[in-house]
Amino acid sequence: MAIIKAMNPATGELMANIEETKIEQIHKLYADSRKAFASWSQLSIKERIGYLKQLKSVIVLEMDDIAKVIVNDTGKVPTEAITADIMPTIDALDQTIKHAEKLLAPKKVKTPIFLFGKKSLVEYMPRGVVLVISPWNYPLQLALVPVISALVSGNTVILKPSEVTPTVGKCMEELFKKANFPHGVVQVAHGGKEVGAKLTEEKPDYIFFTGSVQTGKIIQEVAAKQLIPTTLELGGKDPFIVFADANMERAAKAAVWAAFTNSGQVCMSAERIFVERTIFNKFLEIVKKETESLIQDRSKEADIGSMTFPDQKEIVKRQVRAALCEGAQLITGEHPDDWDESMFIKPLILTNITADMEIFREETFGPVLPMIPFDTEEEVINLANQSEYGLNASIFTSNMKKGRRVARKLISGAVVLNDVIVSVANHYLPFGGTKQSGIGRYHGEHGLTIFCHEKAIVVDRGKRMRELQWYPYKGTYEQFLRLFQSYFSDKRNWAVFLKTYLKLLKK
Ligand code: ADP
Repeated sequence: MAIIKAMNPATGELMANIEETKIEQIHKLYADSRKAFASWSQLSIKERIGYLKQLKSVIVLEMDDIAKVIVNDTGKVPTEAITADIMPTIDALDQTIKHAEKLLAPKKVKTPIFLFGKKSLVEYMPRGVVLVISPWNYPLQLALVPVISALVSGNTVILKPSEVTPTVGKCMEELFKKANFPHGVVQVAHGGKEVGAKLTEEKPDYIFFTGSVQTGKIIQEVAAKQLIPTTLELGGKDPFIVFADANMERAAKAAVWAAFTNSGQVCMSAERIFVERTIFNKFLEIVKKETESLIQDRSKEADIGSMTFPDQKEIVKRQVRAALCEGAQLITGEHPDDWDESMFIKPLILTNITADMEIFREETFGPVLPMIPFDTEEEVINLANQSEYGLNASIFTSNMKKGRRVARKLISGAVVLNDVIVSVANHYLPFGGTKQSGIGRYHGEHGLTIFCHEKAIVVDRGKRMRELQWYPYKGTYEQFLRLFQSYFSDKRNWAVFLKTYLKLLKK
């Protein structure tokens, strides 16, 4: 039996051995899920919300214990486990509980004149079995938000959490058990990429994936073969722009937080800090001071914890070393040659960055803050857009007109003015990326409707014997010509339209 070793990255301790889902079990997971779908999809939304309420109560009650599991599995600091992973999950649950019924209710839409006498509606029909594959950086939120959205919409779910944070995966499985979800409605498959790959091949009705661009593309390829719809939430290389007229103190604190939160292992972290040249040195001074005052250890007071995934530490090491070899300057932090064996990386500030460096182009899942000067608005827009990614962006300025103008020109799934990352925290906003940052949107209304077939309903009371456009066509061409020309011409001719319409009706 294959075992996943759950290691605490901050201490190197083995915490648990978690049994991997066997490849041969996956077929049965789907069979159980499809069986459960038959009854789960027939429940009213109110009844499904009842289960979500139970889940919310369990999470609120066990918040402290869940935070400990997250901290031990990821190496992140306790404050971030609770503010950035657990809270957004409960908030999403709360919003879903409050709004799902209305959002998923049939919606009446307009009916055009040529369909006179009919009523049109959109109804939301669950898709079936939804496969959610989630990552390790926010292991609770990035798994549970899509899971609860799929569930409330009437789907059953198979969740494959990241093998890098397997105890959070186990913990989520327990939470659903404690919330008394019916058998087969939510199942958790534990394991790595083989388990993930097998799950995608078993023809789920929808795949919701959060992770790397590389894996996203593999999944999209498998999905394409079976025409399985997907949402892909992938990486980012987010620009953070500071104009000279910005509140500099605020912008500097924001940059430090946005670059180092979760040790920079955030798809929406600030990865390229563009600062107007006239304030560059002053800004650098504040950012350096702020960075050097951060506490990095395993205490409850800590600001920065350890890295989660050893492989990522090596990537960060390679990128930073390459940048330094190519002329970047290390302002604070340690040279990669001096890093110890632990999973802690001291936050780094780099200057003298050029657009051809890997650290400018590739996503850096680590505590690195590269600063780049710019002279003009046009130049910084070009620099910011010079990326394969387009997830989020920040603009700091006291000129709101300029801020909005620049925001419009950034090719990005979201833009935040005078703040960072927070667009993800507003569940009413769509979340998702442009370019290599992904396909599709979730959260709020999108988060529910993506898991449904939007079914178009047209209702006719069936009293009339025939419709205008039905057979026979004999003698109707000229009349239709007159009807459409009278209706669609710049100056609508109602008299001709009505006369022709009645004539066609009588034919
Ligand atoms: P990271 O490198 O940040 O861990 P990945 O994209 O590799 O990101 O992993 C995200 C999730 O995708 C994890 O749950 C992982 O097990 C899963 N995964 C990795 N490879 C595949 C694959 N080929 N098919 C399906 N899931 C996969």
